[in-house]
Amino acid sequence: MKEVQTSIIKATAHPVSRGDISDHALKVLSGLHDAGYDSYLVGGCVRDLMLGREPKDFDVATNALPEEVRRVFKNCRLIGRRFRLAHVYFGREIIEVATYRAPPGKTDESDTRAKNGNTKDKEVHLANDSGRILRDNVYGTLEEDAVRRDFTINALYYNYANDEISDFVGGFDDLKNGLIKIIGDPETRYREDPVRMLRAIRFASKLGLKIDQKSEAPIKTLSVLLADVPAARKFEEVLKLFHGGAALSTFEALRHADLFQYLFPQAEECLSREIDHYPAVLIPLALRNTDNRIAEGKPVTPAFLLAVMLWGSALEEAERLVNSGANRQDALRSAASHVLRKQAQHTSIPKRFTGMMREMWMMQSRFAFRNGKRAFRLMQHQRFRAAYDFLCLRSESGEIDDELCKWWTLFQEVDVDERKEMINKLPPVPGKRRKSKKRTRPEEKNFNV
Ligand code: ATP
Ligand code: MG
Repeated sequence: MKEVQTSIIKATAHPVSRGDISDHALKVLSGLHDAGYDSYLVGGCVRDLMLGREPKDFDVATNALPEEVRRVFKNCRLIGRRFRLAHVYFGREIIEVATYRAPPGKTDESDTRAKNGNTKDKEVHLANDSGRILRDNVYGTLEEDAVRRDFTINALYYNYANDEISDFVGGFDDLKNGLIKIIGDPETRYREDPVRMLRAIRFASKLGLKIDQKSEAPIKTLSVLLADVPAARKFEEVLKLFHGGAALSTFEALRHADLFQYLFPQAEECLSREIDHYPAVLIPLALRNTDNRIAEGKPVTPAFLLAVMLWGSALEEAERLVNSGANRQDALRSAASHVLRKQAQHTSIPKRFTGMMREMWMMQSRFAFRNGKRAFRLMQHQRFRAAYDFLCLRSESGEIDDELCKWWTLFQEVDVDERKEMINKLPPVPGKRRKSKKRTRPEEKNFNV
């Protein structure tokens, strides 16, 4: 690694000011400072403030050990095993306080900050065969903390004591030049933590920056390392990738870098086959829709995008089951389980979301059956709105006819009498079910309702 070159950016030479920092973050910064510790803002919040963007959250770095941080703040809890941190709670806002970490390779023996003879505090960096870091609790100096961070633009330190920014890795210039540069040797750093490849793509798309050529070069070759990252951690990253306001461009960049296939292999399979045009169009449409909603400040549920991501695969599997004799509802139910089970090996989706995804999927086949009280009942379903949006997206993508989506749009706009009138005008249910023999109705064979 290149020698660390410190540069200090004076308060007058950068745009970060106390007025932009949340009151709670300021309380933590001043608390640490007044107790005699170093007190810096670091990471995404400094980067975002420099870019004139509102930070998502505020992270603090200090030379105080986690236990010492806890002694300063009553409202503080220590969390994490892989990466021990102090959380200071202010209602819903949490300020994360991290003790300076040393880069991999350093052990506790050389750590001047660890307490001698206290084996509980002794730590080593644990890594697996491919170089992935499994545990990272060796404390270090401010400079060491900077070089173990991921990108130069994420390693700027705003000093509460004098409002100066310390830059050890050239992040200030990279930010001015719109460059995302990984700190140190790119291949080693991606091997240590393959999620950094996803983060590079995320920051580039979200912030409109370019990944430096040397940092980008090894990504395609190393993309396979993502397969080894725990599925739950990948899910956390997926949420950030697609809910940061730039989902569509992130998705395109992920596919271009061969990374998407390790997050959603089934979707990638559908996309690359493109037998029908709809799965290929549906996903980008949903991503654009999500970006628009976020831009308008409207709420989004991750279950919606996730349902879209796996719809093509669920549909294919359901069609296969229908062709071997199952009725549509049963086929879709089994297909949903099948697809979600496969997905769990790659990006594990928590139950609270898979439940919603299933409901949205199952409702797709109920939208066509509107006679009698069915339409009224369907509208009462707590997932109706999301499922209806999903239906309209399918229609927009060309997967199904426009008529159904238009009908449901109108049905929601008119009063009860007009709704009844709409139902009366519907053609009678074709092929009424007989009591015996065949259970499957002709239209139940067809998903393109
Ligand atoms: P945002 O919160 O906007 O997504 P961020 O940069 O703040 O972006 P966080 O995940 O909150 O991202 O992480 C805070 C900081 O911790 C980062 O800016 C970076 O310095 C460091 N960091 C996070 N993840 C890693 C990683 N995988 N490897 C090295 N450093 C990391
Ligand atoms: Mg952050």
